Amino acid sequence: MSAGPEELIRDEIRAMTAYAVPSADGLVKLDAMENPYGLPEALRREIGDAVAGAEVNRYPDPTAPALVKRLRQIMAIRPEHGVLLGNGSDEIIHIIIQSVARQGAVVLAPTPSFVMFRVYAQLAGVRFVGVPLRADFALDADALLRALSEHRPAVVFIAYPNNPTGNLFSEDAIDAIVAAAPGLVVIDEAYQAFARKTFMGRLATCPNLVVMRTLSKLGLAGIRLGYAVARPDWIREFDKVRAPYNVNVLTQIVAERVLAHHEVLEAQARTIAAERARLAAELGKLPGVTVFPSEANFILIRVPDAQRIVDRMRDQGVLVKSLHGGVPLLDQCVRITVGTPEEDRRCLAALSQALAEALAVR
Ligand code: PMP
Repeated sequence: MSAGPEELIRDEIRAMTAYAVPSADGLVKLDAMENPYGLPEALRREIGDAVAGAEVNRYPDPTAPALVKRLRQIMAIRPEHGVLLGNGSDEIIHIIIQSVARQGAVVLAPTPSFVMFRVYAQLAGVRFVGVPLRADFALDADALLRALSEHRPAVVFIAYPNNPTGNLFSEDAIDAIVAAAPGLVVIDEAYQAFARKTFMGRLATCPNLVVMRTLSKLGLAGIRLGYAVARPDWIREFDKVRAPYNVNVLTQIVAERVLAHHEVLEAQARTIAAERARLAAELGKLPGVTVFPSEANFILIRVPDAQRIVDRMRDQGVLVKSLHGGVPLLDQCVRITVGTPEEDRRCLAALSQALAEALAVR
């Protein structure tokens, strides 16, 4: 008899749970930090024409010259820096960790932060060290600096702004970490469009820095495109780990066309940031809700009974995410993506109803 999964699959993988994506069918989807606005009709048609001409019988050009040229222009990437494209920034995280995953290597990140830093470390068989944030979700710079000298991590990941807390960490604290790190520091700027702060400028002076971005939160989550910018000697090595044709023809074409009109996405990001302020103010008026400051396209709140409230909101057609049950810092926390004003109105109505019920039960 041949071996089954119990014998064959690595223990650490059998112990994991797959990344859960709940069905959003018919629901107001505020659980995944997507941009709620579609693309304008004229741009959709332009994309349609460009895609109609795509040579889908050919493998994609892995250097994606038209797309990289566009990214370099728009994101002010200096000519002396290299660019790595990924199938989402998820894949970039995976590639970077794979490249350093020698025996005994350590990946370090503040916790709570983006879960895939830990997941890809586990998959690569390297140790993950999480350094807890302070109660106000600020970086604990002293603890981080101690952890750097104790664990000598090959890579430190810092999400700026952080997911799921939404805040921007202190620039000085990050600078101190970059200066003290014995290896790479990856600044994950997935939410940069909503915070308008970046470490891109530090690449000139910090040889161990990688700045990572994604088009997902900007409005192109469906096409899966992330990128990293760093000194070319790093990018050359990461390139060897990358699957040969990781960014497909259609993604390259659509991203290039949309970025040719990037002001559309920029305007949407500004609208979302303004709506975030309005939503935060409204959330703050609800009884029993603590609202944490956010520079991203989502807001973290603390409520009396997170799972119950999320379930009740779902019954009312609104999908948000409970973060309760992971790290203690996120006890009774719920993450709400900023939607359109109408989606947010429905979200607020569902939340106040759920809160009224939860408070009545107590
Ligand atoms: N980094 C952070 C901080 C994120 O929150 C996310 C998505 N939730 C990602 C990276 C991955 O984004 P993508 O793979 O869509 O580029």
